[in-house]
Amino acid sequence: MKKTTGMNRAVTQKWRPATQAVRGGTWRSEHGETSEALFLSSGYTYDDAQTVADRFAGDAEGMTYSRLQNPTVAMLEERIALLEGAEGCRAQATGMAAMTAALLCQLSAGDHCVAARAAFGSCRWLVDNLLPRFGIETSVIDSADNVAWEAAIRPNTKVFFFETPANPTLDIVDLQFVCDLARAHGITTVVDNAFASPALQRPLEFGADVVAYSATKLMDGQGRVLAGAICASEEWLTEVLMPFQRNTGPIISPFNAWVVLKGLETLSLRAHHQSRSAVALGEFLEPRVLRAGGTMRHPGLPSHPAHALAISQMDATGPIFAFDVGTRARAFAVLDALELIDISNNIGDSKSLMCHPASTTHANMGEDARAEMGVSEGLLRINVGLEDIADLIQDMDAALSAAGL
Ligand SMILES: *Cc1c(COP(=O)(O)O)cnc(C)c1O
Repeated sequence: MKKTTGMNRAVTQKWRPATQAVRGGTWRSEHGETSEALFLSSGYTYDDAQTVADRFAGDAEGMTYSRLQNPTVAMLEERIALLEGAEGCRAQATGMAAMTAALLCQLSAGDHCVAARAAFGSCRWLVDNLLPRFGIETSVIDSADNVAWEAAIRPNTKVFFFETPANPTLDIVDLQFVCDLARAHGITTVVDNAFASPALQRPLEFGADVVAYSATKLMDGQGRVLAGAICASEEWLTEVLMPFQRNTGPIISPFNAWVVLKGLETLSLRAHHQSRSAVALGEFLEPRVLRAGGTMRHPGLPSHPAHALAISQMDATGPIFAFDVGTRARAFAVLDALELIDISNNIGDSKSLMCHPASTTHANMGEDARAEMGVSEGLLRINVGLEDIADLIQDMDAALSAAGL
């Protein structure tokens, strides 16, 4: 087998994840480059007219236009699919392009979608505002409550949509239970796996149908580009997603795809290291926060109500956790006293970043919806990066003291 055929599943599928992360999907040109090539080309040329006719008819493989396919994008899609254990993947311009496409490609007027109430602000906007505008009914429920999922099912329920862990409340969904329930009712599950990435959690193993990503987060992991992805069976991608995608155009740019492709090489190392640091920082913070009357939301700590479930369905609990310091004034005081950790609303980055969700990521969803999903005024969310954990603890210690905690 020539080394140029890294797109060959017969070869790549038997590799272990660490190998797939650096080699899966690599598709070398005639130059034999070691690093994946960046094909910044919107179109393609053909040796003869019949070749292009066959490609447009779907009778021959090959590129036709970069809204539909691109060699660099194809490498990223193949690598994500291998890491996810999915038949296929289609890369998208952003996480929200992925969520929007994953929902709109399959829902029609008269259908019903059940969604987790704890969700990224824009995901809630899709459920609360966009879908109803097209006559799609939606219900939002407490996703950590298995009974609530069952109770929300109607005869026209077509999709379950949720995150686990959820942004920013770190609610954990019981993947096996919810996916089994959906299967039994012919409902398609769409899991937003941005907080975990395939390095830490693979929802397809629990029976999920569609896994959608903000690849901006852990997959790029270095705060450079926006990106998204949708993983599912080839049949679903071809028949359900692609008619929507090819005609509406949410595909990722080849440049951003290339950046994420290189990010995937170190995904597992980063995700596990950051998860360990997040547990260490959480263990340091917990007694201080509790003593001050606050609360912790960290799936990696035994105090989380779904800690056992989280560690049973995840390889590690991820770089993100949240804690409540009581009031907005105190939360701002902690943020303003940080010297090393940046005030930033991004996550998954190799830099440690902290934000106040109620005034940033979840600001425009309204006070009632925030209260209902647990985004309190004193809540702070942190993404723990790759810095030395001793420096992170020192910075946090000083900031808490400065804020009187
Ligand atoms: C960031 C995020 C998104 C949106 O992704 P973008 O790449 O910013 O469009 C969706 N879901 C979750 C859980 C996220 O954290």
